[in-house]
Amino acid sequence: MVDGTLVNSLRTAARIVAFSGAGMSTESGVPDFRSPGGVWSRYDPRELTFDRYVASPDVRAQSWQMRREFFDTAPQPNPAHDALVALERAGHLNGVVTQNIDGLHQEAGSQRVVELHGTAREVQCIGRPARPGEPAGCGWSAPATWAFDLLDRGMTDPACPACGALVKSATISFGQMLDSTSLQAATALVEDCDLLLTVGSSLQVYPAAGLPEIAVRTGGRVAIINDEPTGMDHLADVVVRARAAEVLPAAVAAALNA
Ligand code: NAD
Repeated sequence: MVDGTLVNSLRTAARIVAFSGAGMSTESGVPDFRSPGGVWSRYDPRELTFDRYVASPDVRAQSWQMRREFFDTAPQPNPAHDALVALERAGHLNGVVTQNIDGLHQEAGSQRVVELHGTAREVQCIGRPARPGEPAGCGWSAPATWAFDLLDRGMTDPACPACGALVKSATISFGQMLDSTSLQAATALVEDCDLLLTVGSSLQVYPAAGLPEIAVRTGGRVAIINDEPTGMDHLADVVVRARAAEVLPAAVAAALNA
């Protein structure tokens, strides 16, 4: 059963921005932190902080293994990702802001994606930073498969081929600052939207969870699709408590065909 209020919100909005969390990709087989048996039940990213990564070859080896397992399942976009592509192609959606690092929005075909937590699809030189948030290596980067090939050959801690310093997945680890350029791009999109559609995020962690507040403050409406209550349900015009890949494609199809 398609939620009529959600359909109407999508149909009448001209500048939608989607904001996605881990729940967007669970139906692609990428677990969120709570999924039983998922990669996060074997690795705790809260233990693999940026400081510990820089300090310890063991933590780096564990982190690479985690990244490897993350992609071993070869996740594919699901119908919820496809629905956002359809909204963008129809001219209703200005962009996607995501907490996800899996690259599935781009793989589905979304053109404008802001990745607040970076991407696990690339690796980059991080130099030998003295403090978290400090940059930024020599500028070398490569697809993540570069590191996976070296892991296959028995290496546990690949070094930058350009300068010999540390290499890390191009993701934001615990203890690492968000990239200010991404945060500014996300904020600008949300300030300009007339509907913020959040999908599969518990909306509990700032600054990402502050995006619904920005939308409301700048005159936008908020629609939330999540399979459990979120920290921002009180701000939303419509809350749909369901699985994203079940409700979003039908709602978008109904909105575009109305
Ligand atoms: P989160 O705080 O964004 O919470 C995910 C929410 O989605 C939960 O409330 C959950 O109940 C809900 N959910 C799960 N499957 C759903 C579905 N099919 N439909 C609707 N709702 C669904 O995310 P988290 O798991 O606490 O992860 C925190 C951070 O860890 C993320 O922001 C991200 O940076 C990283 N992470 C990324 C990925 C990814 O790239 N796919 C996966 C796991 C974790």
